[in-house]
Amino acid sequence: MRILLHVCCGPCAIYCINALREKGHKVSGFFYNPNIHPVSEYDKRRESVVCMSEKLNLPVFFHREYKFEDFFRKITFHEKDDRCSLCWQLRLKITAEFASRENFDAFTTTLLISPYQDQGKIRDIAASLEKNYGINFYYEDFRTGFRESHSLSRQMGLYHQKYCGCIYSERERYVEKQRK
Ligand code: SF4
Repeated sequence: MRILLHVCCGPCAIYCINALREKGHKVSGFFYNPNIHPVSEYDKRRESVVCMSEKLNLPVFFHREYKFEDFFRKITFHEKDDRCSLCWQLRLKITAEFASRENFDAFTTTLLISPYQDQGKIRDIAASLEKNYGINFYYEDFRTGFRESHSLSRQMGLYHQKYCGCIYSERERYVEKQRK
């Protein structure tokens, strides 16, 4: 199958790409992450995806310009209760839209490798996008490859982020540190 892989960052993508290729799929990446703040952090993660794509010979589509407003418009007034679900919804919706328009057979996401993301909710969101955009969602639990992916990424010298992405997750990192 021709699969469009939503890529959240370089380190998480490596295992997913290898696993998909081993199964005979033709993979392309798609970078759309307006949830990453601030701009300097976004640039570092984008650069690491460029570097990873060159090393793995992966074609990657980068979504237009960086519009963090898209993220804030989506999650405002839901910062505490539903922020992450809305964030996944936003990123996967644009991915499904693009995959459908470009005639991919399916879309998927590197979010499925993270032990910090809710796979059940991601699958629910993807199921509704499948219907809306007439494109299949490829599901695989990539979490067993999380450590391997990050270790390969270190060997490649890619940038490793210290928080999920949004300014809220950055604040939570410091709050957690202080609590300890
Ligand atoms: S913590 Fe991560 S998944 Fe949740 S809203 Fe922030 S960037 Fe998105």
